[in-house]
Amino acid sequence: MNERAAQGTAALRARAEIDLAAVRANVRTLRGLAPGAELMAVLKADGYGHGAVPCARAAVAAGATWLGTATPEEALALRATAGLPDDVRIMCWLWTPGGPWREAIDAGLDVSASGMWALDEVTRAARGADRPARVQLKADTGLGRGGCQPGEDWSALVAAARRAEAEGLLRVTGLWSHFACADEPGHPSITAQLTRFREMTAYAERQGVRPEVRHIANSPATLTLPGSHYDLVRPGVAMYGLSPSPELGTPADFGLRPVMTLSASLALVKHVPGGHGVGYGHRYTTPGATTLGLVPLGYADGIPRHASSSGPVLVDGKWRTVAGRIAMDQFVVDLGGDEPAPGTEAVLFGPGDRGEPTAEDWAQAAGTIGYEIVTRIGSRVPRVYTDA
Ligand SMILES: *Cc1c(COP(=O)(O)O)cnc(C)c1O
Repeated sequence: MNERAAQGTAALRARAEIDLAAVRANVRTLRGLAPGAELMAVLKADGYGHGAVPCARAAVAAGATWLGTATPEEALALRATAGLPDDVRIMCWLWTPGGPWREAIDAGLDVSASGMWALDEVTRAARGADRPARVQLKADTGLGRGGCQPGEDWSALVAAARRAEAEGLLRVTGLWSHFACADEPGHPSITAQLTRFREMTAYAERQGVRPEVRHIANSPATLTLPGSHYDLVRPGVAMYGLSPSPELGTPADFGLRPVMTLSASLALVKHVPGGHGVGYGHRYTTPGATTLGLVPLGYADGIPRHASSSGPVLVDGKWRTVAGRIAMDQFVVDLGGDEPAPGTEAVLFGPGDRGEPTAEDWAQAAGTIGYEIVTRIGSRVPRVYTDA
C-alpha cells in the first residue's frame, strides 16, 4: 500500500494528511441519508486529490458498492490496483472516440454512452469479447453538458441499445443523469430536471430497458433532495468531508468531517526591518520591524496564486496571512515579531477543530470552491494516510 506512517512526517517539507477514518464515517453518514439507495463513491481526479486507491478501499469498507471515475484510465487503474472484491462495480463516464472499450469490457467496468458514436464503438468492441458490455445510457435532463438530448436522439440511442441487447452484445445496466444546480435549493431547474429524468427513464423502460440502477444525485442532492436518490447516489465532495457550497451549510451541519489536512514545515524564520519588500513584485512591504516565516509550498503544489496576500495559515496558534505573492514553490507569512523555530508546523487547512483554517477558507481567499482547493494539491506533496 502506498501509505506512510504518520510518525516521522515532521521531517517532510510538507504533507497532506488523509484521515481514512473520516472517509469511512462520511460514507456511513451519506448512506444514512439515502437509506434506500446504493452508494457510488466518486474517485475521479485521484480521489479529489486524496488518493483514489486508499479512499476506494475506505469507502468500500464503509458500504459503498459502486465506485465512479471520469476517465476509463482511472477506472481501469482502480480495478487493477485497488484489490477490491469483483462484485464492487466501477463506472466511468468521460469517453472520447477510440477509447479503451475492449479493456473496459474485459475488466467488467460499467461504461457510459451519451450518444450514438459511443454506443456504436462499445457495441463493436463487444463483438470480440467474452462477455456483454455493461452500458449505462446518460440523459441530458438539463445540465447542457454530457448526456443525450431528449426526444429523437434519446429514442434512437435507446433503440440502438435494445438491438445490441437482443444480439447479446451488451446489457443496459443503468439510466442516469447529472444536476446543474443541486447546490442551490429551490432552483427551478431542479424539479425540471427531475421531471425530465422521470420521463426519459420511463420511455426507456417502455422500450424494454431493465436498468439495475437509475441515478442522478451528486453530493448536494444526496444531502438535500431525498426525492432524487432513486436506486443509487453518487457523492464525491461530501465523501471527502467538504460541503458542496457554503450557502448549503458547513460540513458539520451535515455530520461530515474534512478528510485532508495540508501542512508544511517552516523553512526559515528571520528578522527584517520595517519597509522591507516581500516576494516577487514586492506586493507586501513590512509595516515595521518584524519576523517573516517561509512556507515551502507554492503554486506548483496547487496553492492558488489567486490567494496571494489573502490565504490564511495557522502558525503557533495564530492565524497568519500570506504576505505578498505566492511563488512556484514557496510563500512568506508575516509572523509579527514572533519567533517560532524553523521546522514549526504551518497548517494551511484541515477540519478546523485545532483552530486551523479550512479548505473553504482558502476557496474564499482564492475566489474558487473547496473542490478545487483539495483536488489541485500537487503530486509533489506526499499523502500521509492516518486511520485513527
Ligand atoms: C464529479 C461527479 C459527481 C460527484 O459530484 P460531487 O458534487 O462532488 O458530489 C457525481 N456525478 C458525476 C457525473 C460527476 O462528474
